[in-house]
Amino acid sequence: MPEIQLKGLIKRYGNFQVLHGVDLTMADNEFTVLVGPSGCGKSTTLRMIAGLESVTEGEIYVDGKPISTLEPKDRGLAMVFQDYALYPHMNVAQNISFALRLQKVAKTEIDKKVKEVAALVGLTEFLHRKPGALSGGQRQRVAMARALAKDSDIFLFDEPLSNLDAKLRGQMRAELAIMSQRVQKNMIYVTHDQVEAMTLADRIVVMNGGYIQQQGSPEELFKRPANKFVAGFLGMPPMNFLDGEIEQRGSDTFVKGDGFDLRLDGEKAKIAAKHTSKSVTLGIRPSDLDYTQNAPEGQSLTLDVLVSEYIGAQSVLMCNCGSNRVTVEVNSETPMALGETLKFEVNLNRVHLFDRQTEEAL
Ligand code: ADP
Ligand code: MG
Repeated sequence: MPEIQLKGLIKRYGNFQVLHGVDLTMADNEFTVLVGPSGCGKSTTLRMIAGLESVTEGEIYVDGKPISTLEPKDRGLAMVFQDYALYPHMNVAQNISFALRLQKVAKTEIDKKVKEVAALVGLTEFLHRKPGALSGGQRQRVAMARALAKDSDIFLFDEPLSNLDAKLRGQMRAELAIMSQRVQKNMIYVTHDQVEAMTLADRIVVMNGGYIQQQGSPEELFKRPANKFVAGFLGMPPMNFLDGEIEQRGSDTFVKGDGFDLRLDGEKAKIAAKHTSKSVTLGIRPSDLDYTQNAPEGQSLTLDVLVSEYIGAQSVLMCNCGSNRVTVEVNSETPMALGETLKFEVNLNRVHLFDRQTEEAL
């Protein structure tokens, strides 16, 4: 299985620079997800790998060999797009086998391959149907099967689930995860959806504004975001950000802002005490606040509960903390009235601190 490497990849359309020197290594047999907001350059990166866009500067290597001058068809890649681009007059089997038939592969071999990939994506019973008689999810599977039939070592996906409704998207996401374990190929998957990224990826690459912000395992990025952008992008509901100042009182280190005064703990306190700039942004995930009637001083936020959104097992509370908005995720059994002022204990082991100027994690 080949390794893919991007070195100093730059893309300009006229004077408009989309990518600012992307360096990235995607290891063998890895499911890499490029995630970031719309317009950050994900598709451009993927299309450059596929050979559908030219490289302005830098190089793309597959197994150490530069490929940026090769034709798309000579790159040994298979790509699945957002709009599946199926041939409406061909049935499922013919759609899946289209590329193989062009390559004049023997009929018995084609039949075998079609059966194999159709089984893999759960299309065995639909081989004789035309795309018009399939659901959105089934069409998506045909597009997937067609890519798999090509026997490439590298698969590129550009937002393949974004045309599906929420429920189907969830199902297909799970199926894709199962399929990727079975086929053991190198997959590069582009999405703006952080849930897809978190659930599918071996490695997440977070992009913003044509730059890579951070890369690592989903857990690494969730637990140790390198900056405020990554912290706010991954996780639902998003992390709360509260501006404050670091204050040293005797041997204790506090972070104090409008409506809160928290005593930092352990490693966080040491790092904060040493940091040169005292202006920080405190990051607290909504799940790291626990409702409690007697939270100790310096370890809790006092919040005015404005709205409660019931979402099943959990409820999401929108609250005020001084002039800050704070979101809290609680067990929906928690008795709670709107308009109440309540205390929530902060899980101080899991708070994040960012330099307010650079937005880098402390
Ligand atoms: P993403 O896939 O992350 O949403 P894209 O890679 O499609 O973003 O686009 C990145 C930026 O490049 C956007 O600002 C987009 O408008 C611009 N862009 C994409 N294709 C072209 C093009 N052919 N000409 C000019 N600008 C383009
Ligand atoms: Mg895109």
